[in-house]
Amino acid sequence: MSTADIYLASPRGFCAGVKRAVAIVEKTLHQYGAPVFVRHEIVHNKYVVENLKQKGAVFIEELSEINDNSRPVIISAHGAPQKVFKEAEQLNLKAIDATCPLVKRVHQQIKRLDKKGCEIIVIGKKEHAEIIGTTGQIANQDKIHIINSLNEAENLQLPQQAKTGVVTQTTLAAEDTDEIIALLQCKFPSLETLSNNDICYATTHRQAAVKELAKECEAIIVIGSKNSSNSKHLKEIALRFGAAKAFLIDDATELDWKEIINLQQIGISAGASAPEYLVEELINEFKRRYDIINIHNVIVAEEQVNFKL
Ligand code: SF4
Repeated sequence: MSTADIYLASPRGFCAGVKRAVAIVEKTLHQYGAPVFVRHEIVHNKYVVENLKQKGAVFIEELSEINDNSRPVIISAHGAPQKVFKEAEQLNLKAIDATCPLVKRVHQQIKRLDKKGCEIIVIGKKEHAEIIGTTGQIANQDKIHIINSLNEAENLQLPQQAKTGVVTQTTLAAEDTDEIIALLQCKFPSLETLSNNDICYATTHRQAAVKELAKECEAIIVIGSKNSSNSKHLKEIALRFGAAKAFLIDDATELDWKEIINLQQIGISAGASAPEYLVEELINEFKRRYDIINIHNVIVAEEQVNFKL
């Protein structure tokens, strides 16, 4: 008889910023009718994007792709450079901003550092939409230094006596980022930070829950899309903190069941942009394949964060 213990990470799945961004698209569709343009994937999840496409959202990467300026355009939860909002004005478009308020907070910080004349170190992936949006808040791009590893922090050279400040992407792995910031603080003792880092509450909680799962589980399955930064980090953290195997999958159909069918202790989490019904489908698939499933909730935090539309 096959038995599995399933450990469910809590919190998991949608964060307040994602809920708000999706609600903004739905409300805009309701108010203006279809089509409604959305600049960049509203959140990095293929199911969320597909669902909104079916309701009439049209996803674009550049405002120049919009062929009807009577339709509103929504800026994704990751934020966008200032020049995008200016371009929307020039094109006479109604731009609706779904940037997560916690990303906005980083935008305020980078502007503040810029006003002080700082050399600004940005920790994150330079091709990620959030980093493009954050660095695009200030005009003087020569002041920005994007790094994404301890090695890059070690090699970073800044003018002697320069004022320095740091901001980070909100969805990084907390340990790596803290290590990089600690090194930067040694190199640049007057380094200004908003707090220790700008990693948001949702990323922090989801990572903490996966660390707990990794203590118990042989394998951890993370539901999330491959382009979701916070989902990718959950998989990395699972492996780093003790799980022998970890998988990042969009849905249950992507799981290679041969890899886990002989395992008994299995953890499940979901990135901040992954809908809960995908977790439920995965659990149902376990119920179908195993004779007995014992479900354990591993709760590391209660979340009551809600952002106004
Ligand atoms: Fe906002 Fe954090 Fe969610 Fe990103 S992961 S949308 S920063 S709450």
